[in-house]
Amino acid sequence: MRTVPHWINGARVEGAGERRLPVYDPATGERQAEVVAATGTEVRAAVEAALAAQPGWRAASLSRRAEVMFRFRDLVDAHRGEIATLLSSEHGKTVADAGGEIARGLENAEFAAGAPHLLKGGYSEQAATGVDVYSIRQPLGVVAGVTPFNFPAMVPMWMFCNALVAGNTFVLKPSEKDPSVSLLLADLLRRAGLPDGAFNVVQGDRSAVDALIADPDVRALSFVGSTPVARAIYEAGTRAGKRVQALGGAKNHMVVLPDADVDAAADAAVSAGFGSAGERCMAVSVVVAVGSAGDALVPAIASRLAKIRVGPASDPDSEMGPLITREHRDRVAGYLSQAQLVSQAQLVSQAQLVSQGQLVVDGRDDPATGGPGFFLGASLVDHVDTTSPLYTDEIFGPVLSVVRVDTYDEALRLVNDNQYGNGTAIFTRDGGAARRFQYDVVCGMVGVNVPIPVPVAYYSFGGWKASLFGDLHMYGPEGLQFYTRTKVVTSRWPDPATSEVDLGFPKVR
Ligand code: NAD
Repeated sequence: MRTVPHWINGARVEGAGERRLPVYDPATGERQAEVVAATGTEVRAAVEAALAAQPGWRAASLSRRAEVMFRFRDLVDAHRGEIATLLSSEHGKTVADAGGEIARGLENAEFAAGAPHLLKGGYSEQAATGVDVYSIRQPLGVVAGVTPFNFPAMVPMWMFCNALVAGNTFVLKPSEKDPSVSLLLADLLRRAGLPDGAFNVVQGDRSAVDALIADPDVRALSFVGSTPVARAIYEAGTRAGKRVQALGGAKNHMVVLPDADVDAAADAAVSAGFGSAGERCMAVSVVVAVGSAGDALVPAIASRLAKIRVGPASDPDSEMGPLITREHRDRVAGYLSQAQLVSQAQLVSQAQLVSQGQLVVDGRDDPATGGPGFFLGASLVDHVDTTSPLYTDEIFGPVLSVVRVDTYDEALRLVNDNQYGNGTAIFTRDGGAARRFQYDVVCGMVGVNVPIPVPVAYYSFGGWKASLFGDLHMYGPEGLQFYTRTKVVTSRWPDPATSEVDLGFPKVR
């Protein structure tokens, strides 16, 4: 059985621990490799390598650090196919979707290559007579990243491109479910000219994360994953005196007003709901149909679901792959039986439909479901009540719920009252309504006729409420801010002839 190594000080290091974690091929259900969970000794070795490399890397000129990012960008670009294939083999998403993830990750290397401009400080000449004041941004030291299974290439790139270019060194703890891409990225960073020790990978699960949190030499921690873990890591990390940004889960609402183009809204809902089998933190999981919008929209969505080709990533015709593990597939499927949904055949009265929800398309009927792979077809549930677990839980699978409301205000209240605030979108032809929504909605990322509003890399990514713990969003300008601290220098080069003792508090006027 292949084991997935760590990457410490510029080389692969076989794990010496005793705990082995399975890496599946989700399309076949087979165990294809094992992660040997890092012990405290290995985590410390990675931190020590990062610690030793940091002064030299920090001393490298801005142009040199940017050059490494340029080269890394070109290497990732040249190896897109290889990375995408490896990523799909462990995650299960289609190779085209993996290519999209790599492209969005690459934007971060491109942004980071502009750091010489972005890291400029401020300068105030003559803040007082003969006194100048200026601010500079300096790296934190060794920083760590803990990443989720659903974007094993993009989310690490969200973090380490900015962290490295700012002069920090990095320890990544990728998801144990699809760990191999991290090693490919590590090797490409080495080939791009990054010094040994500046980027390290420790494989494993919670125990490796706990060791990183406990390590006093780790100055900051970036986390992306589920909300309960994000909250716990934020609390433990900040208690340990670290700077922490912890991005959590989501329940992304797509509000459709009655004037929206039905076909465009249906296309968007299906693309954003079922791409990557719904395992995206920005996936649309709830359509909020306002007024009459649902009457045409639900059949339009249902007709599209029937055409989705569910299958393995190795088949170029597949549009939707399997879920990450059997347990997760069964958990997602459980929502469909648990909810006591009314199928069309069982429907007796309108009241029954509204109180229980209606299973319009049942993904369990898809022929791909039920084999050894972790497949589940696309499901659509209409008239979902907001007290139902279908609405309250982050399902993270191919299940789209439709909630019907009478007015725009009701739709807005629904989004704003939800515990999560990652992404949301409004579909309408009414610019005034869209403007109002953008102004009023309590959510970190908003799409106007755009269902997955993941910001480009020169803005920053982050939700509100239980979707993010911490102050700064990830990547872009806020990412650089997270990985640096400011120092303000007040400077005078006096003429010795004017020097005198003055015990008064320094004044500027
Ligand atoms: P997860 O929370 O189970 O795991 C994330 C990472 O934390 C993994 O590296 C895992 O090994 C580690 N981990 C798990 N339990 C831990 C614990 N108790 N203590 C310390 N570390 C722990 O998440 P996942 O299942 O890998 O990813 C899916 C989740 O991530 C979803 O909730 C999704 O919404 C969220 N997500 C959020 C964003 C965002 O930007 N907000 C992006 C992608 C994914």
